[in-house]
Amino acid sequence: MLEINDLHAGYGKVSAVRGISLSVRPGSVTLVLGANGAGKTTTLRTVAGLHPPASGEVVLDAARITGMAAHKLVRKGIVLVPEGRRVFAPLTVQENLRLGAYTAHNRTKENLERVYAMFPILAERRDGAAGLLSGGEQQMLAFGRALMSEPRVMLLDEPSMGLAPAMVELVAEHVRRMADSGIGVLMVEQNAEVGLEVADEVVVVARGEVGYSGPASTARSHASVLRAFLGEAALAGA
Ligand code: ATP
Repeated sequence: MLEINDLHAGYGKVSAVRGISLSVRPGSVTLVLGANGAGKTTTLRTVAGLHPPASGEVVLDAARITGMAAHKLVRKGIVLVPEGRRVFAPLTVQENLRLGAYTAHNRTKENLERVYAMFPILAERRDGAAGLLSGGEQQMLAFGRALMSEPRVMLLDEPSMGLAPAMVELVAEHVRRMADSGIGVLMVEQNAEVGLEVADEVVVVARGEVGYSGPASTARSHASVLRAFLGEAALAGA
């Protein structure tokens, strides 16, 4: 279980995250919603060890991991899949996957097989350049690369961003499947409708603070609660 307690983080005088608390259970998806600039990415980057916290704590299975370096956190099982996928375009699909394997390199072969079974398109394209994949395929490669380190918690930053609608659905299905395999998923999504389809818990962030948190089922049936925090546009159709 990942717990974030009263986390604060910022950039110089700009305070971006102002007392965020949330938790992520193994096998479940916690969805973070919020307008542009609400502090969602800063929260993920701080948990992943890529941005220093100002105060508060991050706890993984009762051990305090606040402010630990990113590479150590990967060894502990926390992996960030950044916004924009960041695959290495000139490298092949398989080379990209191998890059994710450095914490579990003695099981690279099994993990490659596992990732290829989960994402058959990556198996088909294993020797092709990652840069030639579509946006949705690159997102799957980014998931696959993260899975190579055998994570306990995955931090997903806007996985559906810029994807065609059919791909958005597929990516959402894969998020659910990764969680169902026992991984705890903390996901930031602008697309509230898609995020709510796969989430177990929802946290709505506004100006660096938690405005609402609760079960996704409640949020789905009381869309008006979310609308109050997010505005109409974010929930069209929800
Ligand atoms: P978005 O959906 O636009 O990515 P977000 O909810 O992820 O937004 P953050 O990117 O965490 O929000 O930004 C939170 C606040 O911190 C914003 O006010 C933003 O302008 C500010 N901020 C983000 N990155 C930096 C930076 N590198 N330097 C200074 N301020 C920053």
